[in-house]
Amino acid sequence: MHETAIVEGLMRILSEQAARHGVTAIVRVNVKVGRLRAVEPQQLVSCFEMFAEGTLAEGAVLAIDEVPVRARCKACNLEFEVRGYRFECPACGAGDVAVIQGQELYIESFEAAGPPAEAPPASVTK
Ligand SMILES: [Zn+2]
Repeated sequence: MHETAIVEGLMRILSEQAARHGVTAIVRVNVKVGRLRAVEPQQLVSCFEMFAEGTLAEGAVLAIDEVPVRARCKACNLEFEVRGYRFECPACGAGDVAVIQGQELYIESFEAAGPPAEAPPASVTK
């Protein structure tokens, strides 16, 4: 499943970032997903919840910001939003367009649970 691979990547980045910043629990993850990625937000969320179980991101909210697809016409230079995968310039009708937005897939930011000093003692798992 497409979403599984994406979530695996997200989890890997999150654990790396959390380790680097000394974060012990993540409460919210903000991701940008371009529409060209053909990701079903609801599926991504449920997949994330499954993967996050038992990790420092357990119970975290995955907030998905979908980025519309934009392209630039190579003939007349018009920038336009692509709807319904119609890669055709609305001004001159040319089909030779360059995609300039909509392929995003990254973690914009994440929020950690309070400072470590206020957090309950971490459970030691060996
Ligand atoms: Zn054009």
